Amino acid sequence: MELQDPRVRSLLRQANKVADSGKKAAAEQLYRQLLDEAPDVAEAWYGLGQVLNDPAEQKEAYKKATALEPDFAPAVRALAELRGEPVPAWAIEPEEPEEEEAAPEPELVGETAVPPTEAEYELVCYRHPSRPTSLRCYNCGKPICSSCAIKTPVGYSCPDCIREKEDVFFNATALDYVVAPAIGLVLSLITGYLVSRFAIGGGFFIYFIMVFIGGFAGRIIGQLSKQAIGRRRGRYLPQVMVVMLVLGTAVWLLPILIFNGFASLLAFIGPGIFLFVAGGALFSYMK
Ligand SMILES: [Zn+2]
Ligand SMILES: [Zn+2]
Repeated sequence: MELQDPRVRSLLRQANKVADSGKKAAAEQLYRQLLDEAPDVAEAWYGLGQVLNDPAEQKEAYKKATALEPDFAPAVRALAELRGEPVPAWAIEPEEPEEEEAAPEPELVGETAVPPTEAEYELVCYRHPSRPTSLRCYNCGKPICSSCAIKTPVGYSCPDCIREKEDVFFNATALDYVVAPAIGLVLSLITGYLVSRFAIGGGFFIYFIMVFIGGFAGRIIGQLSKQAIGRRRGRYLPQVMVVMLVLGTAVWLLPILIFNGFASLLAFIGPGIFLFVAGGALFSYMK
């Protein structure tokens, strides 16, 4: 028996667990994978027999199991039942081969020892080696814990696979990160100047106007910059553009603020509203 090998043991447990949950095809695949590596594990042959549907194949699997371990009662019993022969007396009493419950011991999964209390889990999150899990990424099959798993319409995905898909989605070039912010800054300087001319002090009418102007300005700045870069998307482009807007506006507002010794902060409610609304519109447009 090669059950001393922690990897083989881990595979066997995983296969048994999948078989217990009724996923026969998946379990068969796991048993076969295990047997490719370690063809002399009687328990795996027995497990394979349990999940096969064809009696002839089942018989073959049980035969292999009993040939490897002639006193392996469950396999002897299963083989006898398949052949319609009487079960030998010594093999009749079903014995529980559940060694994992009897003697839990630390198990190697990858390079990390899993504490015995968590031995029932076969896998650990690839990002958090201390977290046992039974979830796998549907795309790459890596084990993931529940806080790393990202729900998608087709199943749970790991963050790496999500990022890979996003990288296809985000197609902006390095030049785009120069062109769009440059256009954004120029336009923001213009709107910032107008805001600093007309919106300081203000009053409710100005606040009201700033909501509309802000939304309009944010959208126009986004639209023109995006057109200039062929409508490509950049992961950080929305943030960069908002920074440009703030810069282009602050250049005009700050000197006034400093000149007034920050005494008249209330007068800047109008420009504040403008920045807030325009920034939001620009950000969502660039996304
Ligand atoms: Zn993945
Ligand atoms: Zn995790």
